[in-house]
Amino acid sequence: MRIGIPAETRPGETRVAATPETVKKLAVRHQVLVESGAGLRASCPDAAYEAAGATIVDGASALGAELVLKVRSPDGAERARMRPGSVLVGMLNPFDTENLAQLAGAGLTAFALEAAPRITRAQSMDVLSSQANIAGYKAVLLAANTYGRFMPMLMTAAGTVKAARVLVMGVGVAGLQAIATAKRLGAVIEASDVRPPVKEQVESLGAKFIDVPYETDEERDIAQGVGGYARPMPASWMQRQAALVHERAKLADIVITTALIPGRRAPILIGEDTVKAMKPGSVIVDMAVEQGGNCPLAELGQTVCRHGVHIIGEPNLAALVPADASALYARNVLDFLKLVIDKEDRFVIDREDEIVRATLVCADGAVLRT
Ligand code: NAD
Repeated sequence: MRIGIPAETRPGETRVAATPETVKKLAVRHQVLVESGAGLRASCPDAAYEAAGATIVDGASALGAELVLKVRSPDGAERARMRPGSVLVGMLNPFDTENLAQLAGAGLTAFALEAAPRITRAQSMDVLSSQANIAGYKAVLLAANTYGRFMPMLMTAAGTVKAARVLVMGVGVAGLQAIATAKRLGAVIEASDVRPPVKEQVESLGAKFIDVPYETDEERDIAQGVGGYARPMPASWMQRQAALVHERAKLADIVITTALIPGRRAPILIGEDTVKAMKPGSVIVDMAVEQGGNCPLAELGQTVCRHGVHIIGEPNLAALVPADASALYARNVLDFLKLVIDKEDRFVIDREDEIVRATLVCADGAVLRT
């Protein structure tokens, strides 16, 4: 089979869907076509792909392969170069129905890796986790870079410096890594989430959990989430959370927000009143900015200063660590391919397989997800 690895074209995208490490494995049985320069921003030069067994080609040849591996969904120009009937694997944004309709219209069989269920068997191909882990780490480093003070407590001859106080809102994969990274830098950390199991995870990392007790069975029930994901909490709980968060944010130096609800606008957790009450020079990193933001003052792709608070709205934090983000993503893709390529190197779609069924978003000209 011919497998194409095109360069990513979306502005700010630095990652690549296959690295020399994964190409070496694919090239044993397939012809791998890598677009010249595809891996440059991820520190993977053409020569390294060639040494791994790939052929370096132009963009049209990579996109024209039977199986195309991408990081982000192809745009119109890229789709036009792909062949009807070919297979696309990538982070295709399964909630963007318009994009899926365009992929289906181009006659592609498409797998959106973000739609894989969060089950043990899918862990090795879990792109949300591999990329969120990196993003949570980088969010803390960006915050530390913008923050005008030290993170750790220091006792010096010139006096004592207090440790930074970090507040993490939303403790999924990114939030847990943000806590771990801030902890390594010596900060004092508090965290909040809707889902009950998170409390134990937060405490095991040495952070304090901000408990917003459930007052009704409905609140308790919704907080359980679905498939490990959060659901929108009732307004009563959100109000109590906001009041508590307002008090904690006033004391915080750095706030990292990661709260997401699949397929919906991100919940507002740090309103303008809370930003106004925060200390001058403090920093917010809104990791949900692409989904509308957890802070209404965050601006996509910008760092702004509002009411004396720096608000970072970087949308693609994983792309700021391109080499490792690509290495982990490429391994996720390689593991996924084992589900759809059989021992005779033929492409197969086993719709009985729950991972295949969940990720298959387009086939036979139709969108398979609403
Ligand atoms: P996510 O990115 O969808 O959301 C980030 C966090 O925001 C979640 O913890 C969510 O509960 C929280 N959140 C939503 N609304 C909130 C609000 N109003 N206030 C505070 N927090 C709010 O989450 P994710 O990192 O993709 O993780 C989702 C789930 O998947 C988790 O349960 C995680 O443990 C699970 N997971 C399972 C596996 C596995 O293989 N078993 C692997 C990775 C993750």
